[in-house]
Amino acid sequence: MIKTVRDVELKGKRVLMRVDFNVPMKDGVVQDDTRITAALPTIRYILEQGARYLILMSHLGDPKKDMEKAKEKAAKEGKPFDEEKYLSGKHRLAPVAKHLSQLLGRPVKFAPSCIGPEAETMVKGLKDGEVLMLENTRFHPEETSKDEKVRSEFAKRLASYADLYVNDAFGTAHRAHASTVDVAKFLPAVGGFLMEKEVRYLEPLLKNPDKPFVAIIGGAKVSSKIGVLESLVNRCTTLVIGGGMAYTFLKSMGKKVGSSLVEEDHLGTAEKLLSLAKEKKVEVILPVDHVVASEFSDKAKPEYVDGVDIPDGKIGMDIGKKTLDLIRTRVKAAKNLVWNGPLGVFEFDAFAEGTRQVAIMVAECPGTTVVGGGDSVAAVNKFNLADKIDHVSTGGGASLEFLEGKTLPGIAVLQQK
Ligand code: ADP
Ligand code: MG
Repeated sequence: MIKTVRDVELKGKRVLMRVDFNVPMKDGVVQDDTRITAALPTIRYILEQGARYLILMSHLGDPKKDMEKAKEKAAKEGKPFDEEKYLSGKHRLAPVAKHLSQLLGRPVKFAPSCIGPEAETMVKGLKDGEVLMLENTRFHPEETSKDEKVRSEFAKRLASYADLYVNDAFGTAHRAHASTVDVAKFLPAVGGFLMEKEVRYLEPLLKNPDKPFVAIIGGAKVSSKIGVLESLVNRCTTLVIGGGMAYTFLKSMGKKVGSSLVEEDHLGTAEKLLSLAKEKKVEVILPVDHVVASEFSDKAKPEYVDGVDIPDGKIGMDIGKKTLDLIRTRVKAAKNLVWNGPLGVFEFDAFAEGTRQVAIMVAECPGTTVVGGGDSVAAVNKFNLADKIDHVSTGGGASLEFLEGKTLPGIAVLQQK
């Protein structure tokens, strides 16, 4: 298990903390502060323990990449493009610092660049117990450079502000960047409470989950979930496959899937996974009935198909009630459960029922429940069920990579107990 802020002396320490404040922004206003709220316990703890000061750093989108795209789009549409307006709207962290200050109920200072003379002066001027937020680390290409030397040079300058490095940015832990990995070369590195919670819930799923262990995997594409499926099939009791990717599996079994989403080049992948499951004696649940439509649209009329085969021309949009009943029996008995990926096109109300019912089942499951994945978490929030689930992961890509069994670089650099 990783060491956390609880395992080190904080009194009088200058602390540099990487948070994941990569929140959705519109015109310089925070649209959803879940990620900021999630870091509050660690921030509060560090301050309560009497740290000399606390410096926070984060990325917020990718200014260079995002701006290139936005510029291209504006040029195509013949519209003028105001660089500063664009960056202020989506990539500058000043409004996030202000938002944090309101949540914390104390001032949060802001440095308009994370390195350089102005930032250094501000850091030097910090009084006891003060909080300083640095500007988006990704304004410096060194942050994400593929050259470790370049990243390290940059990280060294960030590290020079502090005696201790705390990483609470689970959502960025799968990226080897200067502020998530290289800073740890220059400072003792520990995790925050959010990082600890993520590891505490996700790690057992890779090591010794309590059985029955039910894995529910959905989402659009097989291709993005191969790693997770291949990893989980080694440990789970039941593997539920739903969402758009179910049709590639059904087709690989010779079923009729109409005009549903199918990844032709992954029919073999699906076949291989099914035979692996058979070999490991893992039960696989695929849809046995469907809600279909004639077009992929939120205005499409839902039609029920009572059977595995989907008629020509129809698109599988959601799982049916018989499939839900089947899943429910397994979920009710589960000691461990992980859910990643919606079971249908839940963004369209007419096709959200399968995902909603699964969210309810998971909320009522007596075992330990974990939900990961950007859209799955959005679904759980949409149905107001997040607080009934043991752990809702804050990292989309990071939780997927963790479940694939990959080592996350941002966690690997933290000290172990
Ligand atoms: P997560 O972000 O939770 O990992 P994914 O990104 O893999 O989930 O998948 C989410 C997307 O899958 C949603 O946009 C949803 O509409 C889509 N999806 C689910 N079921 C279907 C389906 N039957 N056909 C097409 N897309 C689907
Ligand atoms: Mg997604």
